Amino acid sequence: MATKSAIEWTEMTWNPVSGCTKISQGCKNCYAARMALRLEAMGSPRYANGFQVTTHEDLIDTPKKWRKPRTIFVNSMSDLFHDQISDSFIKRVFETMRDCPQHTFQVLTKRSERLAKLGSSLDWPPNVWMGVSVERADVMRRIADLVKVPAKVRFLSCEPLIGPLENIPLNGIHWVIVGGESGPGARPMKSSWAESIQLQCREAGVPFFFKQWGGVRKHKTGRTLNGSIFNEMPPSPNVGIWNHELVQIGRVAHT
Ligand code: SF4
Repeated sequence: MATKSAIEWTEMTWNPVSGCTKISQGCKNCYAARMALRLEAMGSPRYANGFQVTTHEDLIDTPKKWRKPRTIFVNSMSDLFHDQISDSFIKRVFETMRDCPQHTFQVLTKRSERLAKLGSSLDWPPNVWMGVSVERADVMRRIADLVKVPAKVRFLSCEPLIGPLENIPLNGIHWVIVGGESGPGARPMKSSWAESIQLQCREAGVPFFFKQWGGVRKHKTGRTLNGSIFNEMPPSPNVGIWNHELVQIGRVAHT
């Protein structure tokens, strides 16, 4: 499935896999789980298995049909490195990304151990950005796994940020996203947590993207941090005008 995304740091989502299982505190209020169950109840054939891990063979080549360059978030409805997804299926997803140099692909996982294990057997073309979720200090170890893979852009998604992150090892990291949790049961993010990460990124020279404060009604809390919008993106030779504009906005706001 491929759809235009409301996520602030991407354009499209591509879901050759759906379904997942919760693995850490960041998963507590998983949006994908809620959405999958809603789609199942609505009778969507793609979600006949609800939130069980399901691979969609017919979607594996979908990005090849898009000529216009796009920034694509891979598997917003799952985790590509889930242990129920075969090595060969993951490799085929990477082959599609390699065969679509016109696009930029953003892959995000909480299964960093499997990423590190499989990393050397995957293709890493420059249009694949690889990230891990770091929602709380107890999962900061995922960063050590991420830096083992030779992705051109390695990023951290600190969302939903549910605790402070001090002394983040930012060496080898090219982008950091921070966001508070949104939707029913959203856990609050302290401003000091977000400010500390922004400061650590500035000191390390790492682009910082502040996605949202979140909350039950996220449109009311906005995405301004200390009076600025932080839309910084990693420089990449392979991004379209859409990202270029964001890089410029980020520079204007923070130079
Ligand atoms: S890893 Fe992601 S998709 Fe899977 S349960 Fe956790 S938040 Fe949801």
